[in-house]
Amino acid sequence: MNDAASGATPKFAIVGAGPAGFYTAEALNAQCPGCRIDIIDRLPTPYGLVRSGVAPDHQSTKAIEETFEQIALQPNVRFVGNVEVDRDVSLDELRGFYDAIVLASGSPHDAPLDLPGAHLRGVFGASAFVGWYNAHPDHAALAPDLDHAGAVIIGNGNVAIDVARVLSKPTAVLSASDIAHHALDRLESSRIADTYIVGRRGALDAKFTTAELRELGEIEDVVAVADPGQIPDAVGDDLPARERRIKAKNLECLQAFAKADPASKARRIHLRFNSKPVEILGRDRVEGIRFERTRLVDGQAVGDGTTYDIPCGLVVSAIGYRAKAIGGLALSASADRLVNDEGRIDSQVYVVGWLRRGPSGKIGTNRTDGETIAERIAQDIAPAAKPGFNALEPLLLARGVTWTDFAHWKAIEAAEKAAARTGAPRQKFASVDDMLGVCAPAARAASS
Ligand SMILES: Cc1cc2nc3c(=O)[nH]c(=O)nc-3n(C[C@H](O)[C@H](O)[C@H](O)COP(=O)(O)OP(=O)(O)OC[C@H]3O[C@@H](n4cnc5c(N)ncnc54)[C@H](O)[C@@H]3O)c2cc1C
Repeated sequence: MNDAASGATPKFAIVGAGPAGFYTAEALNAQCPGCRIDIIDRLPTPYGLVRSGVAPDHQSTKAIEETFEQIALQPNVRFVGNVEVDRDVSLDELRGFYDAIVLASGSPHDAPLDLPGAHLRGVFGASAFVGWYNAHPDHAALAPDLDHAGAVIIGNGNVAIDVARVLSKPTAVLSASDIAHHALDRLESSRIADTYIVGRRGALDAKFTTAELRELGEIEDVVAVADPGQIPDAVGDDLPARERRIKAKNLECLQAFAKADPASKARRIHLRFNSKPVEILGRDRVEGIRFERTRLVDGQAVGDGTTYDIPCGLVVSAIGYRAKAIGGLALSASADRLVNDEGRIDSQVYVVGWLRRGPSGKIGTNRTDGETIAERIAQDIAPAAKPGFNALEPLLLARGVTWTDFAHWKAIEAAEKAAARTGAPRQKFASVDDMLGVCAPAARAASS
């Protein structure tokens, strides 16, 4: 980067205030001392899926927000919330204002459940369902009907486990989390006694991590059960040592679940494998789901022609996520990321996080992404006296966009903490208007 030669201060915009956005800001700060960084998010609140994805009963995971807060409080870093790229400002406009733009806007949509009956009432994608119990404003109005004995979650990853846990855990325990108030209310009168987590492939192919799987066996008043006929005796010795160790730990949990007595507790979480959904049953709302049994042929789960039904009133599909194209940029063939060359899209635009590599990896995985791209940007760009926020702010004001800065977020957070149920860390606002209601006067003052 030719900062000293041009004398210009490099100005960067990061689109998306989730983990990838914050880690990129931290790394850009290290690579380009003295630069200006604006982190833009479509919500008035920062932290992406740490706030709206990570399960509410996993508060210790959300402690990473404190690290992100320290990044946001750096004097050269600005949070610009409630500003959506493609709605309030275009990518082309940002190109005019900043030396480089890093897209970190995630993969927010559910992969489609391509099945007869997928349109029925009571069928939801995990992104929407998780957003509902985490008070994401896009999904706060979901209002799932939980007045049924059965729920089925399709998918064999940690998101499926999160959803099963939230549906099953006693509400007295959930009440001490930051679960959305509207979700807690509904869960309090839930009749769901049997929640099924169902995967197409075998027990040892599931992508669960051991800590999450083990936790299913430790929930108060809930028993995790598996069909002994689906749980192997041992992990095959044809696998690399590390993979074998991980699978062996999962297998230990599953073997314990296979021995558990389903009648021992009032609520059950069933782990079912080798089952491919073929139809969602029901007339105007879901009444059940039909699965075809599968076996692995050349690594593929292939139906064996026999089927069985699980009666249920709720289906949540946790089968992956899709990206949203931004600024007219091309999505990959799998539609879960932008087409990019190791994070570079063109000479001015870069991409990190889930939008770069697809929806996989934990919060910390995004750190390496941010570091790699910051190094690349530092090598690539020659700062050109771009106006940065001095041009973005008047444009937002002219368009009547009320943006939030980090102090406004702290005002929202303080109001959430003040409204918390006893023992809970906060009560989240679930509407943008409510969020702006507690901080908008400050926003106007700050802009004037
Ligand atoms: C349900 C669920 C639970 C998870 N639980 C865990 C866990 O327990 N532990 C763990 O380590 N990892 C967990 N993860 C993974 C972790 O959340 C991700 O690795 C991480 O959030 C990805 O970061 P990101 O910044 O790429 O995307 P995101 O976190 O999705 O952030 C994207 C941000 O971009 C914003 N945005 C989107 N579009 C625009 C736009 N047009 N303009 C401006 N802003 C925009 C969004 O509002 C959001 O704030 C979980 C993921 C999910 C889905």
